[in-house]
Parts: sequence; structure tokens; C-alpha cells
Amino acid sequence: MYGTARRASVRFYRVLAFESSCDDACIALLEKSPSLRFPVVIDEVKHTLDSKEVGGVIPTKAHEHHQQHIPLLAREFFAKHSISAASPPGLICVTRGPGMVGSLSASLQYAKGLAEAWERPLIGVHHMVGHLLAAHLPQGTPQGTNDTTLSRRDKTNLSGTDDFDPPKFPFLSLLCSGGHTMLVLLRSLADHKVLINTVDIAAGDAIDKCARQLGLRGNMLGPELEKLAESIDSDTRKKFESINVHDGKNEYFFRLSQPFRSPKHAKVPENVQFAFAAYSSTLDKHLARAKILRPDHRLFLANKLQSGIFEHIVNRIQVACLKHDERGDNLLEGVSDFVCSGGVAANKVLRQKLQLAFPGFKFHFPPLALCTDNATMIGNAGIEVFEQWRRKSSPDILPIAKWPMNGFAASEGWEDVSDEEYERVTK
Ligand code: ZN
Repeated sequence: MYGTARRASVRFYRVLAFESSCDDACIALLEKSPSLRFPVVIDEVKHTLDSKEVGGVIPTKAHEHHQQHIPLLAREFFAKHSISAASPPGLICVTRGPGMVGSLSASLQYAKGLAEAWERPLIGVHHMVGHLLAAHLPQGTPQGTNDTTLSRRDKTNLSGTDDFDPPKFPFLSLLCSGGHTMLVLLRSLADHKVLINTVDIAAGDAIDKCARQLGLRGNMLGPELEKLAESIDSDTRKKFESINVHDGKNEYFFRLSQPFRSPKHAKVPENVQFAFAAYSSTLDKHLARAKILRPDHRLFLANKLQSGIFEHIVNRIQVACLKHDERGDNLLEGVSDFVCSGGVAANKVLRQKLQLAFPGFKFHFPPLALCTDNATMIGNAGIEVFEQWRRKSSPDILPIAKWPMNGFAASEGWEDVSDEEYERVTK
């Protein structure tokens, strides 16, 4: 166990991180010692653009939001953690892409200015790599809220890392949220292969749309749909499960076809993909025909849509595994860890389905606070770049709207960190 005495003997450097790729303005502070495997998360603040009324993120509004809130959040955050020119952090990390250029620019410019003024290395981080490496962070990271009052992590939370067993390379990562749905094979910090991506919208987006069409309201529509589907008693659930929706010859006249499963599709296609747009459009057409929705009909639809979306996810992963098995390319050889992150991955039904379908993998479910967009994951990925690659970003880097994951290491704008600079930061 790491006691206070042991902690006192470990030297830490502070890491300041910014994330503003979409609608969340986030700032985090971490501490890291090169002698310890994991960073300590000190604090994070978040302020999310309110887009409820317009029903989606408007890029110009997001740009304005970040221009206003990154400096305001920073002022308060710096005062709280005594961050100043006289006491600057050792490392500054910021999301460089992918994302909306206006949103990215706000914190990239801010971070660049601080890095130059304080003469500290700047690390421009790939947002998706940040998500994927979040599984390497010990559990129990602070949750951001719009009122910016956050629980401060006691630095003695190092004690919690003793039994923390993070996934080991190579591992599979299913990122499943409102913004992303992809299965990635991570072979190392710089070597990522996207095995499945979505051809249209993300799973979480489809779930939100279906929930809204079924009359659910609120900020967290996915958990609302899960609650509705869970409220079904076991007899009714059994009855629903026995009802086939392939052809619509059921008492609700509901027909749901799973994407890429009709006879015209190859059983094992060359490119395995996810597709989720059809779920809400099918529901849309069904509701237009049904006109009046009885309570049992609504429950039936909630049950069939949620399980349909999750079965599609599981099935595509099975097909991807089968494809690499059949090819004998040994792509998945040595993979024993499976990380499942993102808001949708918090759903118990999806977790059960995955664990049942892939009993050979050890599953990791990072906490939700680390799965939504956050600056902690950007700081964590930046630390890995700094300590393992010994690289930093040049001061002229630009935001990258579309940044392939494997382009992270190969993109322009990296500079070597000299031994002298590395020592200066970490000592
Ligand atoms: Zn994200």
C-alpha cells in the first residue's frame, strides 16, 4: 500500500490537460512520477454547451462556448490548484484532433500560449487515442459537472492502484457512445487498427433517437430506455422474446431487419461494419403507421430496439473475429483483454451479451466519467507520449479535424524531447 510516508518519497510532476473537441470544455490536473505506472488524477472541471433546444451541436456556438469558458474555467482552476507563472505544471497536454476545428482551436491556442509563456513541453493529443488509453487509468476519476464544483481527489488514492489490473497490449477496445462506435485493436501506444467502424451514426445516437421517438425525455436518454426496457416483468419479457420481428407477422406488426444480415450480404464480408441509422428510421415508419401506441406496444418496441442494437454490435464483432480466424492472419493472437467503454457500454444488457458471446476475453469496463469526453484521458495519453516516445509538439501545430488513429505518431509537428528537458520536467 502507498502510505503518506511512501508518497512523500516519490517525486511527482504536474500535468495540465485541456479538451474541447466537441461541446465539452474540460480542464484536468494530474500528477505523475516516472517511477510509478499510473498518474494520480487530482481534479477535473467541465462545462458543457447546452444544445438541448437546438437538438445538436452547432459548430459556431461550440467555438464561442470554448472561447468563453476555457479561460474562465482555467482562471478558477488555476487559483484552486495554485497554478501560475511562478508555479507552472511540468507538462501541458491538449486535444489536437479529431473534432470541430473551431472547438479544438480554442483550447489549442490557449495551451500553446501557456506552454510558450511557461517554457513547458506541449503535447497535442489524438482524442480517440485518449479514449482508448483511458482504460489504463485507475478507477475513480473525478466527475465533471456544469457548476464546476468537483470532488477533489485525495492524492492518497494511489493506494487504490495496487490491485488495479489494466489491459495489456495487444487488447481489443470497443468504444461505444453517442459520438463513436468502433472496435479497435491496440497493439501498442502508436499501433492501432480499426477493425469495425460505423457507416452512419453512432450506437448511442441511434438509442437516443429511438428513446425520443418513444416519448422519453431528459439528458440521459440511453439510461432512460434501459430503465423502460428493464421495467418489463419477466412473463411479458419471455413473451416478447418469443415474438419474431423478422417479417412483421406479429400482433404489433413490427418488422426489424438487422443491418448486413439479408441473403444479399456476404456472411463474412471483406469490410465488417456497424450501421445504426436504420433502427430509428424503422421505428419512425412504424410509429407513423401505428398512430396510437398502447403501453405494452411501447414496451415491446423498447425491448426489441434495444436488444436489436446490442445484438448487431455483438454479431459484427463475432463476424470480425471469424474473418480473421478464416484468413489465418493471426491478427487477434495473444489478445486476452477486451475494453468496453463509452456511455452505451454502461448498459447492463450490452455487458451481459458481450461477456456471454466472448467468454475467452477478460472484460474491462472503465468508469463512465472516463468514457465521456474528458481532459483526464488527454493528460493520461499525453504523459504516455512524453514518457514513452520522448516526444512533444512543435509550437506551430494546427488542429486536425479528421485525424486517422494510425496517423497519430506519423503526423507532422512532433519534436524530440532532449534528456535535459525530460529531466527538468520530471525532477
Ligand atoms: Zn469522444
